Amino acid sequence: MNVLVVGNGGREHALAWTLLRAPNVKQVICTPGNGGTATLKGCHNEPVAVDDFEGIRRIAQKYNVSLVVVGPEVPLSLGITDYLQQYNLTVFGPNQAGAQLEASKAWAKALMQQANIPTAQTAVFTDAAAAKAYIQTLPIVIKADCLAAGKGVTIADRPEIAYAAIDAIFAGEFGRENQTVVIEEYLTGQEVSVLALTDGQTIRPLIPAQDHKAIGEGDTGPNTGGMGAYAPTPILTDSLSQRIQTEILEPTLATLQKRGIDYRGVIYAGLMITPDGEPKVLEFNCRFGDPETQAVLALLDTPLDEVILACCQQRLAEFPPLSWKPGVAVCVVLASAGYPGSYQKGYAITGVEQATAKGATVFHAGTKLSGDQVITDGGRVLGVTAVGSTFEAAIALTYEAVDCIGFEGMYCRRDIGFRLAQG
Ligand code: ATP
Repeated sequence: MNVLVVGNGGREHALAWTLLRAPNVKQVICTPGNGGTATLKGCHNEPVAVDDFEGIRRIAQKYNVSLVVVGPEVPLSLGITDYLQQYNLTVFGPNQAGAQLEASKAWAKALMQQANIPTAQTAVFTDAAAAKAYIQTLPIVIKADCLAAGKGVTIADRPEIAYAAIDAIFAGEFGRENQTVVIEEYLTGQEVSVLALTDGQTIRPLIPAQDHKAIGEGDTGPNTGGMGAYAPTPILTDSLSQRIQTEILEPTLATLQKRGIDYRGVIYAGLMITPDGEPKVLEFNCRFGDPETQAVLALLDTPLDEVILACCQQRLAEFPPLSWKPGVAVCVVLASAGYPGSYQKGYAITGVEQATAKGATVFHAGTKLSGDQVITDGGRVLGVTAVGSTFEAAIALTYEAVDCIGFEGMYCRRDIGFRLAQG
């Protein structure tokens, strides 16, 4: 069968690569894809933007695709699933109502409160003065109530920083229509990403991953889209995983159902495991995480198309348990100089073949083909991913592969996995 993947990041390259390993998948089409999906055997790009629903529908029909997998949150929150389903296309990804789980933090918090899901204490304001008056303890977390590509969250350790973040939201920094601020208790601990697949009735987690959001080593500096990930993270014991299933994932799905939402796609729970071992939800996303997906899918043995179709056709309860390759996977992101601030694009990338020859898989994110040359085209450029029997081996192999690759101003964190050593 043919599958259409919507998006152009490392996550979408990993989805296309994993789908093409499945026996039933003949061809993957990416809209718009990147330099990696352009050069992946069995895959090709069509230059259609992720919010051009009509264009995506035309491509899906042209290639007679059996499945559309939506990567990013923006088209989901704009209703791509509802639109494509009108044309009898099979779509993996929630409808617009379900995508509010990520698109509105206030909506997601209300759902968590309704479902009694453990999370940070929260207050929601539509007025700057009331929001400022609420701040009594520091640090405190200020969030814009919209999709902000990771830029809508401020952790304030001084009142002026909190007030400035509130003023920025009400001044329209995230759009004039976004006049709601979510203020949260500051939680400490280790962050874990649990990506779960659901068909609207049953929910099954993938292996848990840990991301590295900060740009600098030791988790310093501003947050990014994610600088590296590994899976499965050993900090989730079986009993903790079980609690996450029964105290977080199942009540979330049940509450979506109560609200009349038929959610078929990924529910990604961004969790903080607090120092006393309690899992608390920091946020929900309505799609696969990036770069966690690169590490998680590197270990998936079950054909991805089969489990995704089981979700779309509401057959997940009968689907056999997911099978995983032995070992662990690590992904290190290579970024452009200046990211997450401003950066230059258009530099030639060398050494990908040598990195692949070492045994790593190089997923492209911000790249494009220019003639025969792959060049940089974004902040996060590549995600070098390797599997090993131990984290030590996987990390060593990943960095050996990283060292084969070069482009002007290339930056990566050298400490991906540092928390593993802390136990
Ligand atoms: P992203 O797109 O990067 O996932 P986002 O804009 O959706 O970000 P959140 O995931 O809610 O926002 O927060 C981003 C990061 O801020 C979290 O990964 C975490 O590191 C930190 N953070 C968020 N909420 C809290 C909290 N209550 N306590 C401590 N840290 C938090």
